[in-house]
Amino acid sequence: MATLLIADHDGVRLGDATAKALTAARQIGAPVDVLVAGDGVAAIAAQAASLAGVARVLVAEGAVLANLLAEPLAELVIRITDAYTVIAAPATSAMKNALPRVAARLDVMQISDVTKVLAADTFERPIYAGNALETVRSDEAKRVLTIRAAAFPASEAGDANAPIEALPAPAASSTSRFVGADLSTSTRPELGSARIIVSGGRALGSAEKFDAVVAPLADRLGAAIGASRAAVDSGYAPNDLQVGQTGKIVAPELYVALGISGAIQHLAGMKDSKVIVAINKDPDAPIFQIADYGLEEDLFTAVPAMMDALA
Ligand SMILES: Cc1cc2nc3c(=O)[nH]c(=O)nc-3n(C[C@H](O)[C@H](O)[C@H](O)COP(=O)(O)OP(=O)(O)OC[C@H]3O[C@@H](n4cnc5c(N)ncnc54)[C@H](O)[C@@H]3O)c2cc1C
Repeated sequence: MATLLIADHDGVRLGDATAKALTAARQIGAPVDVLVAGDGVAAIAAQAASLAGVARVLVAEGAVLANLLAEPLAELVIRITDAYTVIAAPATSAMKNALPRVAARLDVMQISDVTKVLAADTFERPIYAGNALETVRSDEAKRVLTIRAAAFPASEAGDANAPIEALPAPAASSTSRFVGADLSTSTRPELGSARIIVSGGRALGSAEKFDAVVAPLADRLGAAIGASRAAVDSGYAPNDLQVGQTGKIVAPELYVALGISGAIQHLAGMKDSKVIVAINKDPDAPIFQIADYGLEEDLFTAVPAMMDALA
């Protein structure tokens, strides 16, 4: 039996999270079909078809699927689940909305936030804000998984192009409709997929100082900006920059934490970063326990010195 991977995308490009979730789906060991749902998504389907390890791409197009609303997407998926043992998707907002509906309709449990595929029926996932790892073996006939993209490398484009097959779109849902999207725009890398992240905490003291200290360092490093919840709650940074248990889960190659204490809820969102650099003036700050490089210093002195060194 095969695995169905539901693609997430922004209507223009296949999301990086999908290429990462594909790596996890391939580790299950069965052929992987990718479902691309949306409106005018032929180019996205072609991107999916070029990824290594994709057996087939199924494309469903129609206005009803334009914004990946959970109800029509779940309806579409349910129609084709007979052919699949595993239904997987990256743990993005859209998919975290849709997959529980699929699991409920199939009357199986969902296995959320998979960080390791140990066998076709056995998965590892974090619980208690990442403080413990749980190994889950499922004996259900169908398995519904959301994949934590940050835990897997992206599948690259392969040599072959998988066949693309069209599916009919479902009827419009009577229970939900798309009203609008209010998206923030930035020229910086996207937080969820950035190679480098510079994050600021409560220590920055104000939105002005956050912009004056964090932004130039991020720009110098070509980094995305992140923030602790305390910085967000204090209005220093917008809430889509929050990293942590109730924010974004990230695993960049380099994470620079400026004036962040390292509360477990923050660590839950960034502790899988490859290299962690922390600047904090408190030698007992918990962030130093997970930092690869720690600098015990006032960030308002250390960051300008770093800027000079990077000039
Ligand atoms: C249910 C729940 C969910 C949560 N989810 C999240 C989440 O997703 N993300 C998240 O971040 N938090 C989350 N939190 C909040 C979390 O518990 C912490 O309160 C928060 O992370 C603290 O942010 P901070 O490190 O910026 O602030 P603080 O804990 O106040 O730390 C500030 C740090 O800056 C240092 N400092 C001060 N001045 C300077 C200076 N001039 N130079 C250098 N260092 C300095 C201090 O020594 C201190 O270590 C959650 C909490 C709960 C209860």
